[in-house]
Amino acid sequence: MGRKATIYLDYQATTPLDPDVRDAMLPYLGERFGNPHSEHFLGWQAAEAVDDARTAVADLVGAAPGEVLLTSGATEGNNLALLGAAQRSARRHIITTSIEHKSVLGPLEALAKQGWEVERLPVGESGVLDAELVARALRKDTGLVSVMAANNEIGTLQPIAEIGALCADAGALFHCDAAQLAGKRPLDMVASNIDLLSLSAHKLYGPKGIGALVIANNVRERVAPVLYGGGQQEGMRPGTLAPLLCAGLARAARLAAERMDDDEAHTFALRQRLLEALSDRLPQFAINGDPKRSLSGCVNVRLPGADAHALLTMLQGDLAASQGSACNAGLFESSHVLAALGLNHEESGASIRLGFGRFTTAEDVENAVLLLSQKAQTARHDLAAE
Ligand code: PMP
Repeated sequence: MGRKATIYLDYQATTPLDPDVRDAMLPYLGERFGNPHSEHFLGWQAAEAVDDARTAVADLVGAAPGEVLLTSGATEGNNLALLGAAQRSARRHIITTSIEHKSVLGPLEALAKQGWEVERLPVGESGVLDAELVARALRKDTGLVSVMAANNEIGTLQPIAEIGALCADAGALFHCDAAQLAGKRPLDMVASNIDLLSLSAHKLYGPKGIGALVIANNVRERVAPVLYGGGQQEGMRPGTLAPLLCAGLARAARLAAERMDDDEAHTFALRQRLLEALSDRLPQFAINGDPKRSLSGCVNVRLPGADAHALLTMLQGDLAASQGSACNAGLFESSHVLAALGLNHEESGASIRLGFGRFTTAEDVENAVLLLSQKAQTARHDLAAE
């Protein structure tokens, strides 16, 4: 009742569905209910959404529609890329970084248990991988390199084109988790020598539950399926596809391409406003990761001495943001990303990720900083610990 809406600053967790995307999905909740794999009119109608999604994703990342496998999201794409490529690789050395998403680190841990040698490269305080480290780590038996395009906790951008060129020279497959970058910055799989690329619709104003793994044609034979079933998607990823979600992904990917420059200008301006507001109201703040090599819409701030968990708890209902630490039974478990930057337990517990984008307003970021500054004094770490 007259209550102010929650300010949503958690765009790396998920983005709101764009109203245009919702409109594109609606027919598939009604008359367009067919199975896209059926050989009749209703099936063909539903299959249009599937083809459309493949074309839109291909256009977004510089691939061909036939190279796009539709998945349930980036978690599945990452698992299929890594487990599928490992299965067909005689080379047993894998390179990755210490700040990948758990959907990359998890399957790599499973492979390590099965005998693969997985090397996690450090990123240092900047949160940006030095491509030189990849050059030095590559060996004759390196079969696979997996480096994300943009980090989901601190927003840092990795030098993927440089890494791709090194992998191409070494004959190692290059997998890139582009869940946070796709739709926000230009991506060209060919120019960046990316063999396998994962993305997710709900990070680019599309629906949750769909994403893609793009596999370059010339490496298709080097990836084995991990699921077996009715042979859909040429057996590489069987299962009935959801035309509703495909229609959403298609519209979201096209909108992202059309609006990329405007979205970026908007987000960059918001970032400036946010940094000014922080300097005014919380001048002791610091940014985790190199802010110059980062997504515009992600600022991971550290408020020295603050207890981020207590702060966000006090602001429940007013501000939705996440912290770089998970709270387990009252104990903070530092995020592996912030730990990789060298942050200690307390610094990590004083960090909050502020994520914003297409639907965020300048008032949102200013009010969020105002709320944080009002509560910061009461949520000091030393007080909360008592
Ligand atoms: N990779 C990155 C970098 C992500 O940010 C996420 C989502 N948090 C994922 C993978 C997993 O994506 P999905 O939710 O589509 O499974």
